[in-house]
Amino acid sequence: MAHVLAVANQKGGVAKTTTVASLGVALHDLGRRVLLVDLDPQACLTFSLGVDPDTLPVSVHEILLGEVPIGEAIVPTADGPSLLPATIDLATTESMLLTRTGREYALRNAIADLSALDAPYDHIVIDCPPSLGVLTVNGLTAAADLLIPLQCETLSHRGVGQLLNTVKDIQKMTNPGLTVLGVLPTLYDARTVHSRDVLDDVTDRYGLPVLDPPIGRSVRFAEAPAAGRSALTTAGRTKGALAYREHAEFLVARAG
Ligand code: ADP
Ligand code: MG
Repeated sequence: MAHVLAVANQKGGVAKTTTVASLGVALHDLGRRVLLVDLDPQACLTFSLGVDPDTLPVSVHEILLGEVPIGEAIVPTADGPSLLPATIDLATTESMLLTRTGREYALRNAIADLSALDAPYDHIVIDCPPSLGVLTVNGLTAAADLLIPLQCETLSHRGVGQLLNTVKDIQKMTNPGLTVLGVLPTLYDARTVHSRDVLDDVTDRYGLPVLDPPIGRSVRFAEAPAAGRSALTTAGRTKGALAYREHAEFLVARAG
């Protein structure tokens, strides 16, 4: 059984997609079989791994609607992990799911179908969109663990509170086993007292673990998506890359 991790925070620009791509490549480099799932209609994960959404005949959209078997939509990436890609079609998936019974379980059910395939995965990592709608609920319902990337700036904690309310609903209704692994500080600047204060505030308020090491700012991460390759491939030994590799080792241990 694959270990399923959701990466979510309804705030945009906090490095969710970068975290999913980086953990995916780091896990792959550790010899693990990895599937990344793009649940964002903007398809940034798909783009940043060098896959052009416009050329895809099927994507996560058809999978969530149950129109196509999941194996038919999965594509390889140059960096190693397999990808269940998104296209702009995903913008309409939510409204199409809304009238369906069991809509929260669409991704979970599709992932369960993977066990019938010849190439099982050790890890599945889900990139959630910047909202708390049906797509994110699908991601959280399918996952064993949740990782919350957090950019350490004023009022960051407000979003975390809303996200944790959604997590409580999920635990009550669709996925009692969902565990919040903690907050991953991203775009972190160790030189500012402010970053530390924001993290202390979040731990005080919500009692969430802060995962160590934090991911510092690096231009290599900002440059990577346009090249269609992960910064872990193009700049694999930089500080931020090594930090992601440490988190990947933790995930390997966690997955067993
Ligand atoms: P989200 O998925 O939460 O919207 P992204 O992963 O797309 O966030 O990141 C937002 C922006 O920040 C992107 O332009 C990305 O390249 C950049 N970025 C992410 N992580 C870093 C980092 N460690 N250092 C510098 N820029 C980063
Ligand atoms: Mg994103």
